[in-house]
Amino acid sequence: MATQEETFKKIVAHCKEYGFVFPSSEIYDGLGAVYDYGQNGVELKNNIKRYWWDSMTLLHQNIVGIDAAIFMHPTTWKASGHVDAFNDPLIDNRDSKKRYRADVLIEEQIAKYEEKIQKEVDKARKRFGDSFDEAMFRQTNARVIEHQQKRDALHERYSAAMNANDLDELKQIILDEEIVCPISGTRNWTDVRQFNLMFQTEMGSTADGAMKIYLRPETAQGIFVNFLNVQKTGRMKIPFGIAQIGKAFRNEIVARQFVFRMREFEQMEMQFFVRPGEELKWFEHWKAFRLKWHKALGLGDQKYRYHDHEKLAHYANAATDIEFQMPFGFKEVEGIHSRTNFDLSQHAKYSGKKIEYFDPELNQSYTPYVIETSIGVDRMFLSVMCGSYKEEQLEGGDVRVVLSLPPVLAPVKACIMPLVKKDGLPELAHKIMDELKFDFRVQYDEKDSIGKRYRRQDAIGTPFCITVDHDSLNDGCVTLRYRDTMEQDRVKIEDLHEIIRRATDAKELYRKIVGDKLEDTEE
Ligand code: ATP
Repeated sequence: MATQEETFKKIVAHCKEYGFVFPSSEIYDGLGAVYDYGQNGVELKNNIKRYWWDSMTLLHQNIVGIDAAIFMHPTTWKASGHVDAFNDPLIDNRDSKKRYRADVLIEEQIAKYEEKIQKEVDKARKRFGDSFDEAMFRQTNARVIEHQQKRDALHERYSAAMNANDLDELKQIILDEEIVCPISGTRNWTDVRQFNLMFQTEMGSTADGAMKIYLRPETAQGIFVNFLNVQKTGRMKIPFGIAQIGKAFRNEIVARQFVFRMREFEQMEMQFFVRPGEELKWFEHWKAFRLKWHKALGLGDQKYRYHDHEKLAHYANAATDIEFQMPFGFKEVEGIHSRTNFDLSQHAKYSGKKIEYFDPELNQSYTPYVIETSIGVDRMFLSVMCGSYKEEQLEGGDVRVVLSLPPVLAPVKACIMPLVKKDGLPELAHKIMDELKFDFRVQYDEKDSIGKRYRRQDAIGTPFCITVDHDSLNDGCVTLRYRDTMEQDRVKIEDLHEIIRRATDAKELYRKIVGDKLEDTEE
């Protein structure tokens, strides 16, 4: 059995080998935490985006989209709090010259205590078998109690330091816990400094006074500053939402784990504007809706969990993450936040403009409250890859690598293969392709044995292979091979379109999410 780490390495290598993801500017040795999507990656990514976009703007009459610019007036980021507070605490190890996030080093230390406790529990479970009482064990075992106390004390000290923005204390915790650099193994740490994650550049020539501007670190602010534009021109009535997909940039200190943490990435965000006082009801609504959206893909319900935030940003009154089980643990893929009226009020304050909504039913004006759903396209891509990558042991000792991608997301829906390159089979295969190609992304492959061709398609997650043989010329049927089961059916050529449509149509997933009513956010 491959370890989780090995599995992850294989997935990363697979992404490159099959044209999903390449390191950016690779011929120059790449650029840290920046990646390019290849011929299959871009299709998968576009399908993810479409699945999200339509689930917002088609399923809900009261959600519309926008596409705001990446550059924004610099005051935007003053108002949003990013100029002053979008920081990570960084620390360097003087011996390895490696840079770390101080908060991450401490969180990993907390996780180590938790792992130790888990090990004790697992050991005891093995020893006691069916009669094992975990709750009792946790309360009474001396070693577990000791680890738990250390963990809790550290957690408390860490939270207090983070809340107070006490950088000296963060360093002291690292020293007291004897945390070493994983590269040099030493405790030769610098002081902890704040590091702003926004990329800066200049707009205009210096001669006429260039203006310092930022690459946006999130797409949300483009929605907030356009609130009045969209509400007025779209005659939107509360509750309503604005959706956007776009690039965001963060100068992450430690960029690891492939496309999980990038410096240039893409977000899909939706801000849902509601009446003050109704935000927690809508928070629950979106929390449930977003999890259903994930689960409808069929990667396995047990791979998702909520992680409710204990520590909330000062402007938020509820927040949760949807986490996915990656090979390196359960990790945040999406955040759902109840942000009160903080953002709109801040923009009203900094711009001097009134940003309010007149509610005809209440006959009063107010600053709407906001529920935000924010998901990273790249993290979603990674979760789909990790959830789909499989190595199957076949009879006869062969190993099959298959990406069991949700068919709706698969880059290629079907591959059409003539059994041989002669006797009129390629002509018939092309004819079938011409019938399918306007509705589905299909490929044609006549090279190598059928077995090898199947494997190539398995590796990029193509749900169907269609083989044209000599009988097809007479009976109008082809062999349809299913990726996941490898079973084969003889089907009529004219039925292919409907078979592929049914398996790859997002409508079938939307029904799983909202049933047939296709509308659930109207009052
Ligand atoms: P993290 O704690 O992992 O840094 P975050 O809480 O800062 O993430 P948000 O600001 O809530 O993330 O951003 C919303 C979503 O954007 C995240 O759930 C994630 O999917 C995505 N995202 C954020 N930062 C990155 C990044 N550096 N690379 C890829 N995706 C990212």
